[in-house]
Amino acid sequence: MLSFFPGPSKVYPQVRQWLTDAYDQDILSLPHRGQRFMEMSRNTVEKLKEKLAIPADYSIYFTASATECWEIILQGLVAEGSFHFFSGAFGEKWHSYAQKLQLARGNCHFEVNERPAPEINGSKVDLICLTHSETSNGTVLPDAFLKELRSAYPEPLIAVDATSSMAGMALQFPLADVWFASVQKCFGLPAGLGLLICSPRAVARAKELNHRKHYNSLVVLDEQMQKFQTYNTPNVLGIYLFSRSLEITSPITATDKIIRERAAEWYAYFGQRPDVTPLVSNPEVRSPLVLALQAKPERVKAIKELALAENIRLGNGYGTWAESTFRIANFPQHTEEDFEELKQFFESRAQK
Ligand SMILES: *Cc1c(COP(=O)(O)O)cnc(C)c1O
Repeated sequence: MLSFFPGPSKVYPQVRQWLTDAYDQDILSLPHRGQRFMEMSRNTVEKLKEKLAIPADYSIYFTASATECWEIILQGLVAEGSFHFFSGAFGEKWHSYAQKLQLARGNCHFEVNERPAPEINGSKVDLICLTHSETSNGTVLPDAFLKELRSAYPEPLIAVDATSSMAGMALQFPLADVWFASVQKCFGLPAGLGLLICSPRAVARAKELNHRKHYNSLVVLDEQMQKFQTYNTPNVLGIYLFSRSLEITSPITATDKIIRERAAEWYAYFGQRPDVTPLVSNPEVRSPLVLALQAKPERVKAIKELALAENIRLGNGYGTWAESTFRIANFPQHTEEDFEELKQFFESRAQK
């Protein structure tokens, strides 16, 4: 099955061999307090910084998922309150976590084709939360927005959910204090591992607040990571697969270029079709990584079914757009051949 589902998405085919290697090299019962684990963890973090061009003074932590990161960030970095920008389901869910924790102090719910104004309307906000690539509707926040927000609000920490853009786009890490993702999207790996990346300012804030009342608090993550360890027994296999994948991934600037070129081609292609149109018409906020495509609900259903019959899995629409859209992931693990196969499908079986 060739998967263009945005997540869990296609995994690198090398995962098959790495799994065998993991078994043969005794990774599956590797003690997580031992030297070998700590070496692996250190190497992984160093390689990740190099490949993704993450500033050397940023800290990286292993978590279980992006969802867990929503909570870790809110519980570890907020004393006053959080403000949330969102246009789709993931950003909205993060906001609802903040509401449940009684930390949400305001939000800006913007439209799919809109670039939001960098303004927060609430006092007592010490954390601003953004979703870089909103996987549910195929939008992305432009770097210019992050820049404007940073200069308008130098004080609050800025945290960015980059779950479907990290490893796929060149992110401007210095423009925010916290970035996170999980590996089943652009990293091309099986689910079950999240990454949390913090600036020195974010780490200092966590230490100052010293919130320790919950599982995986940020201060505890940081203390453990000084030894390249985790508080609980982590997903050792996931970290191993991650370390292997980093050996074969290209530097992020090269990946970014390929992804953008491929996205431009496909948006142009769907722009010309009579039956399918891109959900996002404003190119400035269109994600190159998750293409959301709109059609009549019966056409969406037919295209997905025809694709499945050809062993191609397209992404379902999400939330508000469940029936009226389908999504195509354009991730680094997708090859030219994969997209050739997809093109053939649209030109033959799904021709209109
Ligand atoms: C997939 C996704 C999540 C959730 O990731 P999990 O690993 O399932 O927790 C959160 N935010 C965005 C933007 C996503 O695309």
